[in-house]
Amino acid sequence: MKKIRIIAMLFIATLVLVSCQNEDTLDTETVSKEKYPEIAAKLQKMYFSAEGLEIIDLELPDGTKQKMFEVEGDMVFSKEHIEKAKVFTDVKQYRAYTIVTVPWWVGVRTLKIMGYTGGVFALSNKEKTALRWAVNNYNVLNLRIKFDLSFGTNLVSQDIVVYRRPNMTGVGGQSGFPSNGDPYKWISIWGLSPFSYNYNECVITHHIGHTIGVQHTYSTVSCGGSTPILRGVHIPGTPWGTDLNSIYNPCCPLGTTGELSHYDKIALNYLY
Ligand SMILES: [Zn+2]
Repeated sequence: MKKIRIIAMLFIATLVLVSCQNEDTLDTETVSKEKYPEIAAKLQKMYFSAEGLEIIDLELPDGTKQKMFEVEGDMVFSKEHIEKAKVFTDVKQYRAYTIVTVPWWVGVRTLKIMGYTGGVFALSNKEKTALRWAVNNYNVLNLRIKFDLSFGTNLVSQDIVVYRRPNMTGVGGQSGFPSNGDPYKWISIWGLSPFSYNYNECVITHHIGHTIGVQHTYSTVSCGGSTPILRGVHIPGTPWGTDLNSIYNPCCPLGTTGELSHYDKIALNYLY
C-alpha cells in the first residue's frame, strides 16, 4: 500500500530542507533521514526502514489532524512513540518491538473495532463487507486477542477505527503500531472502490495486522515501481526469505485472495 509519490515533491522538499527546523515542531514535508538522524536511527533499531521517511498530516474522522512520521509508505508513528519505543538489542530474542498486551489472567482480550459510517469519512458498503471479512480472518484463528466489530460514529471507547480518507489521491491505507500495550487506533483507507472485495479485504487485513504489531514481511515484492527490501523481526517457524502469499507484504497484489498465508497464521499464533 505504498503511496504513489510525486517526484516534484522531492524537489520542493529539497528547497524546504534548507530552512531551519525547530526540534519540537514538525513541518509537513518529505524529510531525509539526515534531517532527523535520531528518529532514523531509532526506527532502524525498531526494524523499520528509514528510507523515504516523511512527515504527514494524518486526518482523523473527527476532522482533526495529527503530525506523524510516515514510514515505509503505509505506517505512521508520532515522534513521541518513536522516542519512547523500547527496542530489543539481543538478536536471539526475536519478537515484534511492540504488541498488544494480554494479561495472563484475562485469557483472551477483546478489542473493539468500528467501521466508521459518518459523512465523508464513511466506509462504502464494499469496504464494510471487506472489513467484516478481514476481522473474520483473525477471529477464526482463536488467538489471545479477539475483535468485536461494530459500525457507527462514536469514536470514544473504540480500540480501532477504520475510516475512509476523502482527501487522499491514489490508492492505499495507513495505520500504526501498538503503544502502551494497546493497539494503534486509526486505520485509514482510500481509493479502494474500483478494486475487488478481496483486494479491499487484503488492505484492511494488512492494516489490522500493523495495529496489533505485525511488521512487513521480509520481501522483494515490487510495490508501486520500487523494490523495497524490508526486514522485520523474525518470527520462529516463518521463512527468512520471501513469502509471496503473505498479506503483510508491502503491497496487495491485484489477484489477492484477501486471506492470511500459512506463515502469516504461524506468525499470529506466535505473537498471540
Ligand atoms: Zn503495511
